[in-house]
Parts: sequence; structure tokens; C-alpha cells
Amino acid sequence: MRFSEEFLDELRFRNDIQSVISPYVALKPAGRTMVGLCPFHNEKTPSFTVYLENQSYYCFGCGAGGDCITFIKNAENLDYTEAVRYLAEKSGLALPVDSYDDTVSRLRHRIYEMNRAAARFYYVMLTGQNGEKAQNYVLKRGLSPETCKKFGIGFAPDQWDSLVRHLKNAGFSEDELVTASLARKAKNGGLIDVFRNRLMFPVIDLRGNVIAFSGRVFDDKDPNAPKYINSPETLVYKKSQVLYALNFAKNNNDKKLILCEGNMDVIALHQAGFTNAVAAMGTSFTPGHAKLLANYADEVLLAYDGDAAGQKAVNKVISILETTHIKTKVIKMVGGKDPDEIIRTHGKERMRDILNGAVNDTEFRLSQAEAGLDLTSPDGKVNYLNNAVAVLASLKNPMERDIYITKISSDLDVLKPAISEMVEKEIKQRKNRSERTIFTDIQKQITGHPNIAGTEKAFNAKTKRAEEALIRSVLQNPDFCKKLEPFIRPELFFSEIHKKLYFNIAQKIKNNQKLELTYFAGELTAAEMNVLSRLVNDKTLLSNTLQECMDCIAALNAEKGKTSSPNIVELDDEGFRELFKKASK
Ligand SMILES: [Zn+2]
Repeated sequence: MRFSEEFLDELRFRNDIQSVISPYVALKPAGRTMVGLCPFHNEKTPSFTVYLENQSYYCFGCGAGGDCITFIKNAENLDYTEAVRYLAEKSGLALPVDSYDDTVSRLRHRIYEMNRAAARFYYVMLTGQNGEKAQNYVLKRGLSPETCKKFGIGFAPDQWDSLVRHLKNAGFSEDELVTASLARKAKNGGLIDVFRNRLMFPVIDLRGNVIAFSGRVFDDKDPNAPKYINSPETLVYKKSQVLYALNFAKNNNDKKLILCEGNMDVIALHQAGFTNAVAAMGTSFTPGHAKLLANYADEVLLAYDGDAAGQKAVNKVISILETTHIKTKVIKMVGGKDPDEIIRTHGKERMRDILNGAVNDTEFRLSQAEAGLDLTSPDGKVNYLNNAVAVLASLKNPMERDIYITKISSDLDVLKPAISEMVEKEIKQRKNRSERTIFTDIQKQITGHPNIAGTEKAFNAKTKRAEEALIRSVLQNPDFCKKLEPFIRPELFFSEIHKKLYFNIAQKIKNNQKLELTYFAGELTAAEMNVLSRLVNDKTLLSNTLQECMDCIAALNAEKGKTSSPNIVELDDEGFRELFKKASK
């Protein structure tokens, strides 16, 4: 979908880059730019930079960059047209007529409508006459009517197709119901409800859309039924990008969140007044969840079950959160296996004490490292040290590391330098490992293009610099474009991304179009947009004279080993002027 330049101008004017980005990133002024922690990768020191003068952003950590449309595309997981529509709606700008014919977006919109209608249906069913058993269960779990309303808790009747019939009557097609994963084909070919005879928990995103459901058994009618059935991923639901109840919890002011294992714990905590509880839904905790948490929290309390599986999960969460700026604490469940049980049996005051007594993640993991080992035997000591070194190597603060090394050294009666040396070695190994995996991970997430790094490495630093200089020079001096035209052929470029960027820019200059990033967002992929934003914003890249541009072309030609075009580097001044005159005409 293409939009007119006038429309994009207005959109850009109404959506100042700072106001678009600041709901997602806490920005601090730094000279003529603003900086903050990148929302697209996990980092502890800000490398995400917003350029007010040209209304763009670029992250020096992961290479994400672009304009306001690109930002919304990535931050809200929308396609280009949807992102434009989102910004237009937000700023009260009417979309051009006939501009919105994207079928995927329309379907997405239908799924939101279907989910909302389904949630309403389930909610009504809970208080209806067939919902008596489910209601009794809700009472038994101590959930108040206010809580049921707040979380939209409902009941999927014990029938094959009650929701299918309801939604078909409301005008939704069978195909749409299947696409939304609310219904599926039965063996006899008919359509049946995915959720039957279950207590229903809608999953709501940060904009208030119902995006999925979690259905819980509440009776023992079928002893083999799984405890939870969760919506599979759909067009509107990506498990690793959603935290249950974050739509409520994000409003807490102290940047502290409680991460639970399941939605019942979250609801129990909210009802008891701890409205900063969230949970990963239908999947274990992922780096995507960590990124999401990092937008809203500086500290996360882990409230996982006290059993072995819960404690194993805690270890995994800690290792993922280590890559963020978030401080982690672990809650020790006392008087119950999970927050829900503790609150129900001992009350919310007890829960508050437990939350306050959360131990830091280091103490937690060191106690885990000791589990099952006999520290009086040499074997036990060695095994414990190996485990403990892994914990110590993950500590960011050298002072903290030193304190624990000293403690372990005296506890185990082992020389301190020996432990320190093991820890240093482990740190070095990890650094090598993680830099590689984190970088490719980030590139994949942001660009959907796992190997920008690979592509960039495919040609050498010299040709890369030459190509960058050419692009940056024509951006800054559009008049160069015509003069360079006779010398620049598509084959000249080593990088596909650079080639596309150069010719896209040249075309715009030829057509007298503007060169703001906003006019590129509809034509370039995320990976191309990232590179363009860097070339526009990275002040370490120098601007070139026309002659320097010619040198760049010569360098590229030399690299290609071609003799068909004049080797400008070897021309004397006279020869260069001659050539230059020809090119300038
Ligand atoms: Zn970044």
C-alpha cells in the first residue's frame, strides 16, 4: 500500500518521533538527541538514540533504526499499512479513501471482534443457569464477582458447539472461527468448540484487545483432561510476546513486577491487592518475555512454585533476565506451594511478608548449587565449586562477586585466588559465547533476517566503507547523484542492501521526492531500514566530496577486479579532470 507524500508529511508532522517512542522507552536528553534503553534488545546501558532533527532513531547496540512508522511496526508487531493506520488514528488523521484493503489486517481485526464476542459469551455463561457448577468452583477458589469482572473470567458450557452457534449467529463464518482457533473441525466434518466445560480466562493485550484464551478444568468429569488448554498462536497471538495481566500491572509506578507461574496465582495476587503480578501464558519464559518485562520493571520478584519443577524454571528465568537491566529476587514459598494457596490459607498479610522477604537471586542460586551435595567430602566440595562458579560468573557487579568468592573461600576452606581464577575463566568463555548468540538472536527478532551480520561480513571492510560513503554522500548532497550516475552500475555494489538503498535514493532524487526516512518506510524491508537509519545518523561516518566519491567508486571497481571502467585511482590529475568534466555534464 502506497500513501501520497502529502499524507505522509501530515502523518510525520502529527507524530513527533519523541512522542511516538516515549511511551515505550524512557528517553533522556543527550545534546541534540535523546537516549534510552533499546526496546528491541536487552541492554543495561542506553545505546538507543532518537534524533529529533531528522525524526529518526538508531540503536548502536543492535542496529535497529528507522522513522516513526518503522518504530510502531516493530514495537506493536504490525505491518506497514497497519502501522500507518495506527499512527493516523492516534493523531486524528483520516486515512485516504480506499487506502486500506489489506486482507491480513482485516482478518486480524475480525479475530479481535470474534475474541471479544467469545469472551462476552463465556462471561455471560458463567452467571447463567448452566454455569452453576463453574460458579461454585469460582466461589470455592475465593474469587469475588469484582475479580471475575476485572479479568473477564467466564465459562465454556459443556456442549459441543455452543460458541460456534453463538458466533455464527453473530455473523462470523466457519472459516473465520477456525482461523481464530475458537473452533475446529470434528471427525465427522462438523465444527466444534475448542473450549468445552472449562473455566475461561481471556488473555488481553496492552491495547485492551482479547487475543487468546486459557481454559481450566474445574470438575473431575474427565480425569484425563489436561488442566489447562491454551489458544494456539494465531494472527493476533504470539505466546512469547504476551504476559498475562500486564495490561493491569504495567500501571504500577514503582517499576517492580511479580512474575508467577500461572494465571490463578496472578489473579489471587491482584485480588489481594498485589496488582503488579504477571505470568507467561501457555509457554515457559522466553527472551521475548524478558524484553517485555524490561519495558515496565527494574525489579522482578519470582513467585514460582516451591516444587522441583518450579525451582528449575526459576533458574531458567534468572539466566534469561541476566541479559537485561532487571534486578531479580526469588520468593521462598512458605505455608503453601504457590501464591494462590498461601493467600487462601494464610491471608494477604502473610503473602506481603513473604514478598518482602524475597532473597536475592545470587543467594537463591548458591543454595541451589549446594543441593544434594556433601560439602564435607572433597568430591562434594569440587562439585559445589563447579556449580557455584557458574553462578558467580553471571554476576555483573565485581564487588558482589568478590563478596561471595570470599564467603565461599572461607566456608569451604579453599584458597580465594583459586576460586577467582575459575570464575574469571568462566566469564571469558561466556562472553565469547553470548555475544555471538545474542547478536544473531536480536537480528532475527528485529529484522526477520538472521544474517544481516552475515551479509555485512560477506564483503570486506574497505568495500563496505566505500559503499556506505557513496550512500551517505548522495543523501547529503543530492546533486552528486546525477554526476555520479555514469559511473555507478548495480554490479558495482557488493552488498545487496546497499545496492537497493543507493538506487532507491537515486530514484527519489530523480523524481524530486523528499529523502526523509518516512518516505522510505513503505518500500524498504526492516533490515534495509536499519542500515539506512545508521547511514543517516551515525556521525562517525564522514561526509564526502565528489572527488572522494569517485575514489570510492574506483575502490569498488578495483575490488571487483574489473578493467572495463577507468581506474580512477591511477589517473593523473589531468585525466581525472577530463573524466570528471564528462561526468559533470
Ligand atoms: Zn537495540
